[in-house]
Amino acid sequence: MKAAVFHGVHNISIDDIQVPEPNDYDVLVKVKACGVCGTDLHIYEGAKGAADCKPPTVLGHEFSGIVERVGTKVTEFSPGDRVAVDPNNVCGECRYCLSGKAHFCSRMIGTGTTADGGFAEYCRVHRRQLTKIGDHLSFEEGAMAEPISCCLHGLDLTGVQTGDDVLIIGGGTIGQIMLRLCVAAGASRIAMLEPIAHKRELALKSGAVLAENPLAENTDSKLLKAFPFKFDRVIECVGSKATMENAIRFAGNASTVMLFGLTSPKCTIEVYPYTIFQREITLRSSYINPYTIGRAVSLLNSRKLTVRDMIMDVISLKDCLKVFTDASYRAQGKIMVRP
Ligand SMILES: [Zn+2]
Ligand SMILES: [Zn+2]
Repeated sequence: MKAAVFHGVHNISIDDIQVPEPNDYDVLVKVKACGVCGTDLHIYEGAKGAADCKPPTVLGHEFSGIVERVGTKVTEFSPGDRVAVDPNNVCGECRYCLSGKAHFCSRMIGTGTTADGGFAEYCRVHRRQLTKIGDHLSFEEGAMAEPISCCLHGLDLTGVQTGDDVLIIGGGTIGQIMLRLCVAAGASRIAMLEPIAHKRELALKSGAVLAENPLAENTDSKLLKAFPFKFDRVIECVGSKATMENAIRFAGNASTVMLFGLTSPKCTIEVYPYTIFQREITLRSSYINPYTIGRAVSLLNSRKLTVRDMIMDVISLKDCLKVFTDASYRAQGKIMVRP
């Protein structure tokens, strides 16, 4: 089968590799759509994402597909089932798994990071990584279950309450999903900071009352005029020094700041403890997607959350290299690969 194999920094090629054999509890999934994520780019650039990736590995961890074959012990899935994949396969037996912290599983296998992933015609996963998706969902929508599940964990930890004023920094796929989840959670007024115009327009269409370019001159005053008490929750979805520091700057009294964007491991930010004290700010972070994939699929199935307008392009496996090499192309929005 054809697969996009990561061989090292700045080195991905489309190779012919063996179709994996499912073990007893495994399922072989025919991949129908696989999203390109910031983590894939971090790996390509040689930076550490959420997990270490040792080449050669097939990347791609946001995918959906059709069950092709099942292992001898798998009874809950059969060939033809339409499924979304949770890339994180936990052991269920270690200290963390046994104490409700399975996202820190000491034997975690990450499909698309530590094991071969979804930029391939077929992918082998454990049965516990699969959730069936509705027939009315496209595979591209199904592939969004993973980023949605990560956002849900972040939203839970941010503690967005009905009536909150929320600032979302960054209007990429994650920022747009966060925005829609905040709307669904009953946030009162939501503002977004995003430099790209069409992403600001999308935010306004999805329920933001204000969407401003953070690089423009009078953005701060506009924001503070509309939100004189600043924000109850700030969700940072970029992962840069400036945006992280901005997130704390716009945090109101008794607020929570969610530092969701993935920074480089060396990134540092300036934090004034006095500010944190004076405004009683809770600083939080969110690590992957424990126990949220079921809710993500349920939101998609019920159409309480729609994501079709976030998908900017669907490309073939052989064209997927351009996503890694062309920054302006991928800045447009979520790119889906159809192997
Ligand atoms: Zn991802
Ligand atoms: Zn474990």
